[in-house]
Amino acid sequence: MHWQIETAGDVRRFAAMICLGVLVADALLRGVALLPGALPALMIAAPLSYAMGQRLAASQRHARALEEALHHDPLTGVRSRASLCASVPGDSARPCAVILADIDHFKVFNDRHGHAAGDLALRHFAGLLRGNCRNSDLVARLGGEEFVILMPGTTMADGLRAANRLARRIRQSPVFLDTGPVTGPVPLTASFGVAALLPGDTLDASLKRADRALYRAKGTGRDRACLHDPTLDTAPTRPQSAAQPHHST
Ligand code: GH3
Ligand code: MG
Ligand code: MG
Repeated sequence: MHWQIETAGDVRRFAAMICLGVLVADALLRGVALLPGALPALMIAAPLSYAMGQRLAASQRHARALEEALHHDPLTGVRSRASLCASVPGDSARPCAVILADIDHFKVFNDRHGHAAGDLALRHFAGLLRGNCRNSDLVARLGGEEFVILMPGTTMADGLRAANRLARRIRQSPVFLDTGPVTGPVPLTASFGVAALLPGDTLDASLKRADRALYRAKGTGRDRACLHDPTLDTAPTRPQSAAQPHHST
């Protein structure tokens, strides 16, 4: 039986149906079968509570699946932007580094190797970010080939060191393609912009600063990390800014 219980009226009707069913079944069991004591009540309660338990378990499974989908990027498995926004540390006494990472010339990679290989490269890239950060760092995909790493308890200088280490790791870890026009190891590089999440700052404001630093990393040759510097980063954010909403594919 499939019960659609959505509104308060549905809940009232459902409860009324159960009560009616119990009364009828109780009368029948007592009158017809002449069962003693609490046995009729048990015979009604057992299947009813089992059915309701199954329904509750199914609802909780659906709720968990929805929660998982909301908080994780389906392609790479790292956090979604929504999850990142919900997890921004409120502890403004500790420094927090914000690193924006963007794969270099990814459009060329896609054009040369195909979209499926591009998806594989995105998963590979996300795995490298995740595997080379601390458990307390938050890695999220903002959209397309742009990722952000929040490093609580990390100064900007240490954030820059971490971004340089990630750039080196990615440079040294080609993605292996086994189908398409080119098979074997294909190198990837990425550029990084580093800023600080300042006390009282919003995530978007710090991402804008990281984006300006990333713009400089792209403009000065890619495959590198740049620290946000207000005297150098005077240009507007890139046209496809991380501060703008992206559409994951
Ligand atoms: P730059 O070095 O300046 O960052 O250049 P770019 O080519 O990496 O940047 P651009 O913004 O021009 O291109 C991004 C490409 O990322 C274009 C788009 O097709 C690709 N892309 C975005 N999302 C996905 C995805 O989910 N899967 C695949 N395979 N490609 C994607
Ligand atoms: Mg790119
Ligand atoms: Mg990009």
